[in-house]
Amino acid sequence: MSALVYLALGSNLGDRLANLQAAQKALPPTVRVLAASPVYETPPWGYADQPAFLNQVIQVETDLEPFDLLKMLKSLETQLGRTPGPRYGPRLIDLDILFYDDLVFDAPGLTLPHPRIEERAFVLTPLADLAPDLRHPVSGLTIQGMLQRVDRRGIQRYEPQDAGG
Ligand code: AMP
Repeated sequence: MSALVYLALGSNLGDRLANLQAAQKALPPTVRVLAASPVYETPPWGYADQPAFLNQVIQVETDLEPFDLLKMLKSLETQLGRTPGPRYGPRLIDLDILFYDDLVFDAPGLTLPHPRIEERAFVLTPLADLAPDLRHPVSGLTIQGMLQRVDRRGIQRYEPQDAGG
């Protein structure tokens, strides 16, 4: 049976929009995109002295088990050109699993739901566009409820100059 999963995509190096699009295009047939949020430009976190990020959340359906999904995402990051760097430093592409159905799981290398969803406006903002009423399986809070508790300053819809009309 397939699982309903939310993935977070982030990029702050190179052609950021192209990196987000390339990641979605490179997903294997076992991961099918059902919906994609708008793209947001968000201030850097961790090290402030780095370019702004583009962030997006996608809803996918997958036949992969959680660890297989994580492994696939990490190899996709490498395939798309990400090289090892500081934990919160600049990156071509960052792919995280936010929710995997309503699975609650904690093991070395994989925590579900992603442990920092509640504090990250750059994740909650696009997630609220797709699933405002989705409830965190541990806290019971909705995405919309969590979003109201965080600082959303500096987060804006990304409109590329050449987006057309
Ligand atoms: P990153 O933030 O992309 O550098 O990820 C660092 C590490 O977080 C990864 O190598 C994963 O093993 C670990 N990790 C733990 N939980 C998750 C999750 N829900 N989604 C993605 N990575 C995770």
